[in-house]
Amino acid sequence: MKTWEQRERARLMLAREVGYVRKPHGGRLRVALAFPNTYYVGMSSLGFQTVYRLFNDLDDVVCERTFLPPKQELQAQLASGAPLVTLESQTPVSEFDVLALSVSFEWDYTNVVTLLRLAGLQPRASARSARDPLVVVGGAVTFVNPEPLALFADVIAAGEGELLVPALAAAIRECPERGDLLRRLACERGFYIPSFYDVRYAENGTIAAYEVKPGTGAPPTVKKAAVKSVERLDPPATSIFTPDTEFGSRFLIEVVRGCANLCRFCWAGYNYLPVRAFPADRILELARQAKVHSSKAGLVSIALCDHPEIERILTGLLEMGYSISPASLRLDDLTEPIVRLLRQSGERSITIAPETGSDRLRRVINKTVTNDEILAATDLIFANGIDNLKLYYMIGLPTETEADLEAIRDVTVQMRDIMLKHGRPRGRLGRIVGSVNPLIPKPGTAYQWLPMEDPAVTDAKGKRLRQLLSGLDNVYFNIKSERHSYYQALLSLGDRRIADTIEAAERNGGQWRAAVADTGIDAGFYIFRDRSKDPVLAWDIIDGGMKASFFQTEFSKGLREEWTLPPKRQRENIKLIPVLD
Ligand code: SF4
Repeated sequence: MKTWEQRERARLMLAREVGYVRKPHGGRLRVALAFPNTYYVGMSSLGFQTVYRLFNDLDDVVCERTFLPPKQELQAQLASGAPLVTLESQTPVSEFDVLALSVSFEWDYTNVVTLLRLAGLQPRASARSARDPLVVVGGAVTFVNPEPLALFADVIAAGEGELLVPALAAAIRECPERGDLLRRLACERGFYIPSFYDVRYAENGTIAAYEVKPGTGAPPTVKKAAVKSVERLDPPATSIFTPDTEFGSRFLIEVVRGCANLCRFCWAGYNYLPVRAFPADRILELARQAKVHSSKAGLVSIALCDHPEIERILTGLLEMGYSISPASLRLDDLTEPIVRLLRQSGERSITIAPETGSDRLRRVINKTVTNDEILAATDLIFANGIDNLKLYYMIGLPTETEADLEAIRDVTVQMRDIMLKHGRPRGRLGRIVGSVNPLIPKPGTAYQWLPMEDPAVTDAKGKRLRQLLSGLDNVYFNIKSERHSYYQALLSLGDRRIADTIEAAERNGGQWRAAVADTGIDAGFYIFRDRSKDPVLAWDIIDGGMKASFFQTEFSKGLREEWTLPPKRQRENIKLIPVLD
């Protein structure tokens, strides 16, 4: 796509938006904020929108957005050599002081490389100069394992934007020289400068140590930045409305951050601690202001009902005339008023995550609900007029057996019976839609040392589950194959040595098998290795606040089928939650 075509498209997109910020560039720090995917995907991200607001809240900063073009136009744009421009002023990205990338998914790693190339920049940090924009990588993936992106980034911003954005802007203001700036950032919480570390490898290929380069002043590990209290913070909320996103013009707002359930596989649960509830009054005030642009509210939180005033928030939104869509709801928090309020707002479907079918295996993974509680919640859901239920399950969990697969079928059948019991008298039968994913052991969880299950075993389990669930009317299951998760696991568990593979996959159009073969990477080493003896894990460079000894204890407790109960059920759990000093 030629430059004039990009400009024309940008103007058309802006014409359909409400709430974008346009500031003169003169005298301001210029930040190009990129989502390494299309506009449609990027503008659905509340994190991306929030960082845009946080930068533009600073008077001396102008932040403009940029995205990848749609897939069918990408090659033409790369071939044309037309530089990638921002949406707001259609300025080439390469002319900005900072290129900040918000990366939410591992699958977007190749897009990071594409975006840098489109912007006319060298993908590798070592090949860029101080005249190029400072390339900062942030977003959800930096909470998990930023190391596969280490060689592409000048700076990795690990943690929450509310702290990182003002700190980055202040450092740039005070340090015009690039070297000074990097040394200054290295001393700040949450900023990881990959080029300040040499990685030493042991003979068996594991990481022996991250060694700080002399004279950089970088710390041995980088503490993640997280706000202690959100009492005086505005909750992240949609600030730009456009119909051209996955959620349409839905008003998205974060209600509560974190989840204290401590499920042993869940990176989000461990990494967004401690649990912090945004002020209910401010949530409702922002919703009131947004009402002219939207009639649908999407509540973004991993444990929505952990908000102490959730019923008041739902009632308030309902009174304003919103239809309300929660993200997944935690089973143990569902109450009759919550389900009733959601139904009254027009919601016809609720998503819950039993994760597996047996109480025994739920104790292993620390999902602290029982089948009895799940069935009681199901009754509550269908009795209150909700038609459809979405379920999340996993396979490939530690200690899983055939009996656990049968238990998935059994509990699903019982849920279906409850749906029929309530649906038949109403003359309206809904659907139960299950999604089954193989477990990918995630960095920063109690399963971070665990190898992924043998693909043949996982595929056999998927096949068995399909048999068990076949022929059930009104029940539909999507069982993902292990192959789908294999390369995602590589990106999730990899280190900076897989940068070559990411570049190869970017060049060959996402053919990961060929990319791995061409770059000589042993993917199995990353995915199927027991890491419990590794002296250092790739993601240990970021200190997320949880101690390895805690994860080890949790893993052992899991094998003994013991729960670590969340604070609501057992006060002692509070002391497990990290203290942010
Ligand atoms: S309930 Fe468990 S899986 Fe769900 S967000 Fe909390 S810790 Fe994660």
